[in-house]
Amino acid sequence: MFKQAHKNLQQWYRENGRHELPWRQTNDAYPIWVSEIMLQQTQVKTILERFYFPFLKKFPTLQDLANAREDEVLKQWEGLGYYTRARNLHKTAQICQNKLPETVSELVALPGIGQSTAHAVAAFAYKTPVPIMDANVKRILYRVFGVKKANDKALWQMAYKLFDEEHPFEYNQAMMDIGSLLCQAKQTDCDNCPFSDVCKAKLDDPLLYPEKKRKKRVPIRSKHIVIHEHNNKFALRQRETRFLNGMWGFIEHDEEQELEPIGTIKQLYSHFHLHATIYHSTSVVEEEVVWYSKKEIETLALSGADHKAFALLKT
Ligand code: SF4
Repeated sequence: MFKQAHKNLQQWYRENGRHELPWRQTNDAYPIWVSEIMLQQTQVKTILERFYFPFLKKFPTLQDLANAREDEVLKQWEGLGYYTRARNLHKTAQICQNKLPETVSELVALPGIGQSTAHAVAAFAYKTPVPIMDANVKRILYRVFGVKKANDKALWQMAYKLFDEEHPFEYNQAMMDIGSLLCQAKQTDCDNCPFSDVCKAKLDDPLLYPEKKRKKRVPIRSKHIVIHEHNNKFALRQRETRFLNGMWGFIEHDEEQELEPIGTIKQLYSHFHLHATIYHSTSVVEEEVVWYSKKEIETLALSGADHKAFALLKT
């Protein structure tokens, strides 16, 4: 059914594919897996500019990552957010030590590896003939099959149906590129798309596929952050909470403090927006804390909000 579309796709990929992406130039499962985890919540451009190369420089092999301390991994992940990803990368490296497994079923059993990542690593590193799934691929599937709503199971069924088993590697790479270059969320270039002849959404309005989810209102949480200073050192605590676990931060309170604020900051998280008032204090600290100098703080994995709070103090 999709034979001609597959041929078109091969030709399109030869002429237009983004062959230069660094994780496409390697068969090593480790950097491929790292890129997949980074790409889950962050755009290619940001990862290329700021995160992918420094991470691999710091931890060149899976074994290096396994041997690292968790706070070193968190520090290297700083700015990428969703820190559970970094903790799971570390845990998986420690479980596997030298080599990531090859099959989807073994990969999916590891911390932080879902079906999509398992399929991507199996397909790109080990050349297993399986389809991949990311936001771009999903959008194409919705549109080619003319479906507005689907659960994961249905999406995987569509993925296997559209898949080109004869050229699995090129097919998967092309799907990501078509999704980001031609079949975008807010505009499409159907005339140049290899699926042009078979795409059902093209006969309607492609932008209606998939149906838009209603945006949830994100709650605002207020906090009061106190930066305690003593002898040029600052009081910090390492979080033991599930959220931002292992990240360092200044002392947080729910209640307003009897101090003169030095400013306010905002930090957007996926499930809430933080609005915090920042204070500077040289008085005694009652909580259990560790005192660090400015230089030492630079080596700690600090949450985005704490970075902003500290920047306020420095200015
Ligand atoms: S034909 Fe248009 S809507 Fe269909 S997959 Fe291609 S770009 Fe997307």
